[in-house]
Amino acid sequence: MVTARPGYIGIDIGGTNLRLALVDDQGHIICEQRRKTEIYAGKEVFFHHLDESFRVIRGEGGTAGVWPKAVGVGVPGLIANDGLVHVSVNLPALDGVNLRDALVDLTGLPVVVANDVNACAYGEMQFGVGRSFASFLMVTLGTGVGGGLILNNRLWTGVDGVAGEFGHMTVEPGGRSCACGNRGCLEQYASATAIVAVARELIANRQQSLVGVSSGEITPEILAEIARGGNDAARRIFTEAARYLGIAAASVANLLNLEAIILGGGVAGSFDLLQHPLEEEIISRAFPIPGKRLKVLRSQLGNDGGMLGAAALAMALDASRLPSLPSR
Ligand SMILES: [Zn+2]
Repeated sequence: MVTARPGYIGIDIGGTNLRLALVDDQGHIICEQRRKTEIYAGKEVFFHHLDESFRVIRGEGGTAGVWPKAVGVGVPGLIANDGLVHVSVNLPALDGVNLRDALVDLTGLPVVVANDVNACAYGEMQFGVGRSFASFLMVTLGTGVGGGLILNNRLWTGVDGVAGEFGHMTVEPGGRSCACGNRGCLEQYASATAIVAVARELIANRQQSLVGVSSGEITPEILAEIARGGNDAARRIFTEAARYLGIAAASVANLLNLEAIILGGGVAGSFDLLQHPLEEEIISRAFPIPGKRLKVLRSQLGNDGGMLGAAALAMALDASRLPSLPSR
């Protein structure tokens, strides 16, 4: 007979994919469900997908002898500490929805909801490279630039739940306009979107250096391969992105004197191209003590980070270790 042991459901809600996993207290994935979010079909369809996924996960978990005790959710956007989705650009149907209350009703389990990058940060702290540190900043480099702040082994979400928006720190006062309403946000210089836009501009200007690559096929991964192959123009695009990251990171180092900055998200696959210019920029701008202290590392959890982080939040909720994120 299988002995029942506790598990935690982690949900990573993305603009495209909806991923759920039942995770044990060591961070091992017991079973997993992956579906399309299909948020354009409305929130009823979305909650139906979630409900079906829960049934499958609970069934498979039961067979493995693992029973979910709590649910954690990572969702992109500005999320209040009580689970209310203020604004989610990728999931507009959830704007104004209290996701925690909706999922408590759906599952009958305690639920905690957090911003997706905050969940990633928590995952790195619990199961990833962040285990070695008490205070660090998680940064995700994808379509946008996200941030999640761990201070003294606690997630800092701010008084309203919306802290950690590293991607919207100003790095060019009169710079490119940002969807948030500001100009010159880091996200406009260091996200996958920004890197591709700069490359396309070079191609459109018929820069000899990027000849042979068509504008339509360019991705950060392809550009990174070209850079590693010795192409200076491609390498400079990553160096520039890293410099802007370093400008913002140096301010964070001076302000918070953290131990590490951990890079995740798709562009972190180009960590080898980003690390040195980023470190140099931090050292050149920050005070020596916090600048040298701040290690630049790559995330260990990769694509599973959001899901594992959400499960880690559920585990913390179950153990009553989340005073800043009230649950129901
Ligand atoms: Zn912005």
